[in-house]
Amino acid sequence: MKKLLYKVNPSIQSSILEWNNWVPLKVKAISWRALHNHLPISENLIKRSILYSPDICVCCTTAGESVDHIFASCYVENVVWQRVNVWCNLQPVNTSSVRDILLVYKQVPDFEHRRKMVQAIIMVAIWCLLRARNKLIFENKPLKMENVI
Ligand SMILES: [Zn+2]
Repeated sequence: MKKLLYKVNPSIQSSILEWNNWVPLKVKAISWRALHNHLPISENLIKRSILYSPDICVCCTTAGESVDHIFASCYVENVVWQRVNVWCNLQPVNTSSVRDILLVYKQVPDFEHRRKMVQAIIMVAIWCLLRARNKLIFENKPLKMENVI
C-alpha cells in the first residue's frame, strides 16, 4: 500500500517527518497536520468560511492565529521551546515556523537514539501546546506554563 501511495504521490516520500514509534499515533497525527497546515485553527477556519470572528491568537491576543504563530512565534510557545532546549541540551535555534521546529531533531547526533528521543519530545510538545490551547478555548481553563508541558 505504501509503495502505491508513493507512486501516486511522490511528494509523500519527501516528508520531513520520519517514523517515530516512541510517540502515540494521535501525537504524530497532530505534528503531521501542523506541518501540512491542516489544523482547525482560526486562520484555516476563516479561509474555509467556518469562522467569522477575528483571527486572534487566544494565548497571547496580540497576533493572528496561524500554525506558525501558535507553534513557533507566540510568546507562550517560546517558553515551551526554551524548556525543550534545556531538557534536550540543544543549542538555541531560530525557529520561525512549525517546519523549523519539526526539523530541529535532524541537527542532533544520532547517538544512542538521542535523535529519536528529541523528535519524540518535540512532537509531544506540539501536541501539549495544541491541547492547552484547546482547553483554553473550549473549557475556559487558563493557560499555565506548568500545566502545558
Ligand atoms: Zn499568540
